[in-house]
Amino acid sequence: MKRRPNLALLGPRLAALKAEWSGQRLDSDPLLFPHRYGSPEDREVVALLASALAFGRVASIKTSLERVVAALGPSPARFLEAWDGTPLPLLEGFVHRWVRQPDLEAVLSAIARVRRAHGSLREAFAKGDPGGDDFVLALDSFHALLRAEIAEPHSHGVRFLLPSPSAGTACKRAHLFLRWMVRSEDVDLGLFTGGLFTPARLLLPLDTHVHRIATYLGLTLRPTADLTASREATAWLKLISPEDPVGYDWALSRLGILALCLRGDGRRDCERCAVRTVCREAA
Ligand code: SF4
Repeated sequence: MKRRPNLALLGPRLAALKAEWSGQRLDSDPLLFPHRYGSPEDREVVALLASALAFGRVASIKTSLERVVAALGPSPARFLEAWDGTPLPLLEGFVHRWVRQPDLEAVLSAIARVRRAHGSLREAFAKGDPGGDDFVLALDSFHALLRAEIAEPHSHGVRFLLPSPSAGTACKRAHLFLRWMVRSEDVDLGLFTGGLFTPARLLLPLDTHVHRIATYLGLTLRPTADLTASREATAWLKLISPEDPVGYDWALSRLGILALCLRGDGRRDCERCAVRTVCREAA
């Protein structure tokens, strides 16, 4: 029988891991991109784009995002306010895995229209938030609002950039966007605050690395990184940190992103790892 986590032991180790990575290695993450801008308007636009494109190899994510922000100029929010939707020369032939230039431009155009209608992405998100324990239905509503601005049928690229988290997949990128926007501590941006926005409603953004490490720590027993696994892991973290369960995500995700804890016989730095004493896979 598989064991559940010993929270009395796990809590201090996660706290140590979090402290170790606090504010460290922003260069290793797409969150670097919204941090380049000073205004909340630019940051929310670039954060949405950076999280939506945060799939694939880190190097290719960065290359694609450099191209996108170059096309949008020094103030992406202002650029979108004035943009008439004509194809952007700097995005000609853009491809990021299965997302192509027309997909990306359709989403840019949707962001522009939604911001015009609601004033900001924060306001648009807040209006569609029905409340509840987490933001899954609110994310559904927000992405549906953006998709409604794009002519159907929607391409695979558009549906991938604007998914419906309630369908059951982990939707790491959507929950990552919210972590960036709702948390104000450490590296996160804290732009979606007030009202129903509270870090206690965030879910752990579960990619393959974070899911794997979550299983090592007993936070989930599920073999698949899906919505149920994310809710399960978050529920355990909430018992340790009720107001900020995903505050550990930055540190946990560094282990995979920086190749400090890879799968199987891959590279692992267990000896120096802060959660070694509570990890079932520690060497
Ligand atoms: S102790 Fe080793 S296997 Fe466990 S999380 Fe740390 S690096 Fe990974």
